Amino acid sequence: ERFVEVLGVPFINTTKDQFVARLGEHLNKEDKTFVVTANPEIVLHAYEDKTYREYLDRATYITADGIGVVKAAGMLGHPLPERVTGFDTFMDLLALANEKSYSIYLLGAKDEVLQKTIAEINRQFPNVVIAGSHHGFFDWSETTIEDEIKEKKPDMVFLALGFPRQEKWIAERMDQFDKGLFMGIGGSFDVLAG
Ligand code: UDP
Repeated sequence: ERFVEVLGVPFINTTKDQFVARLGEHLNKEDKTFVVTANPEIVLHAYEDKTYREYLDRATYITADGIGVVKAAGMLGHPLPERVTGFDTFMDLLALANEKSYSIYLLGAKDEVLQKTIAEINRQFPNVVIAGSHHGFFDWSETTIEDEIKEKKPDMVFLALGFPRQEKWIAERMDQFDKGLFMGIGGSFDVLAG
């Protein structure tokens, strides 16, 4: 099967490498894509919170981010090959962006962490174009961030706002953008910044 359901969440049945290859095809075609890498916490939250569940319904792909989800799928008789985590997918997408000179937008974390993340991306992935960035402690009623993304049209937008904020931000604004791969990556900037 292409999808495996755990607590009503349809997970894409894929290895990480296959998944990144699939995202590469969407990037080639400039499709608009919304990726959620869902850990057990996210799955439970979606089960309990209808609004959050509706955000997930808007995702193009939901991956199993955590061994708990992979194990649950196996116990339900619909095994998933492996976990596909936000951080690993982020790293592979940066490598792809480096190869193809894609542009990216970074949203989230404290400004100091964000600046370190940008420096680290410039060092490890020198061909990646940083289209723009903003720290994650902004006024949600202002539209400066989405306006900048609309203007710059980055190939990928990474949101390190933590859950459920990152999925809410994307789901509520998706319709405004023409293209781009949008993905919430939790605390990944903190990890990359070291
Ligand atoms: N964060 C943010 N804005 C907020 C709250 C958190 O940018 O309003 C950032 C935080 O600095 C960290 C990341 O989101 O880099 C993940 O935060 P946390 O560990 O709290 O998220 P979770 O583990 O719940 O996904």
